[in-house]
Amino acid sequence: MKPLIIVGGGIAGSALAYFATKEGLETVLVDAGKHAASDVPSALINAVRGQNGHVVEGGLEGARFTFALLDELSAAGFEVPHSRAGIYRPVPDEKTFLKWMKNLPENYPHEWLEQAPAEVHLQEHWYRVLYLPVGGWVDGQAFCAALRIASGARVIRQTAVSIVPDRVVLQDQTALEGTVVFCGGSYGASQAGFAGTHRRGSLLLLQDTLSPLPVSFGIYATPARKGGVLGSTFETPEDRCSPQGLPLKSLNWLLEKARLTFRTLEPNFSGVWTGVRYSGATLPEGLLTLTALGSKGFLLGPKLARDMVQQTLIPLLHQ
Ligand SMILES: Cc1cc2nc3c(=O)[nH]c(=O)nc-3n(C[C@H](O)[C@H](O)[C@H](O)COP(=O)(O)OP(=O)(O)OC[C@H]3O[C@@H](n4cnc5c(N)ncnc54)[C@H](O)[C@@H]3O)c2cc1C
Repeated sequence: MKPLIIVGGGIAGSALAYFATKEGLETVLVDAGKHAASDVPSALINAVRGQNGHVVEGGLEGARFTFALLDELSAAGFEVPHSRAGIYRPVPDEKTFLKWMKNLPENYPHEWLEQAPAEVHLQEHWYRVLYLPVGGWVDGQAFCAALRIASGARVIRQTAVSIVPDRVVLQDQTALEGTVVFCGGSYGASQAGFAGTHRRGSLLLLQDTLSPLPVSFGIYATPARKGGVLGSTFETPEDRCSPQGLPLKSLNWLLEKARLTFRTLEPNFSGVWTGVRYSGATLPEGLLTLTALGSKGFLLGPKLARDMVQQTLIPLLHQ
């Protein structure tokens, strides 16, 4: 049987390696470890998105799947900082409230609150607060590391300089033959010249969290392994990965939005983290890919990886 060669060790590639080895597939993971969006210190797992309050297709299932995977890793002794206690979404006005009511299926788990609990420190001007019990946050880097270690896959810390469906050449010119899956995200797509949309976003790292449970509307504030984060993806989309820092005007925008959202905003910042999301990809025909997960990598990535192993890789590799 040919080995599986995964290029990229973010949430897509790490989850793919985890599910592939579980099925007995010989797996090699090539990861440059550069500019992974999955290194995000705290990512939301939330299926109800955007200004319209739409439910992401497959989002509820995806969230449940991700939480079950986190439980599986915990049971195996891995410590991945996360929480699954739900998410608050503040609703600005009646019009938005009516729109979200319309867009949220009745059987989707949710609760409308007059106001959030006091410890969330929301400003008083919010019209309502939507509580979504199926939601939470996860430390992206710890999640991926646990998946890679638990998989037992052979991990090669190099950049793949040539990627075709059945062969990868590494930067030291070693060639690996097998069935290749590209999971390279924004950085990998830029390196390989694959088209798509790249959106940079930054998180301010806070010494203390603004709220014990994640809050998300335009910006998001959530606990993290240490303290909390405050962030958003607001830079203009680009056609390449450009992971450099937080422009002053973006910092001001973020702080202004945070002040409008929260009553207390103690600026005990301990740093900033910037990453790039990749979406809307045009990928080469014939190459297997699990990438361009946009802002839903942790919501959908693990389930998509499991599905790809079961539906595509097992039949292909057992041929
Ligand atoms: C600010 C910000 C906030 C976010 N918030 C959330 C959130 O709340 N919830 C959520 O679900 N998602 C969120 N996301 C999106 C999420 O981070 C991404 O969807 C996800 O991490 C993408 O994972 P990936 O595995 O596809 O790619 P990546 O995580 O980018 O990983 C790709 C890996 O492949 C490696 N690589 C690339 N090319 C090569 C090569 N040629 N050879 C070897 N290795 C290579 C890279 O070095 C990298 O390690 C956020 C993103 C940002 C930037």
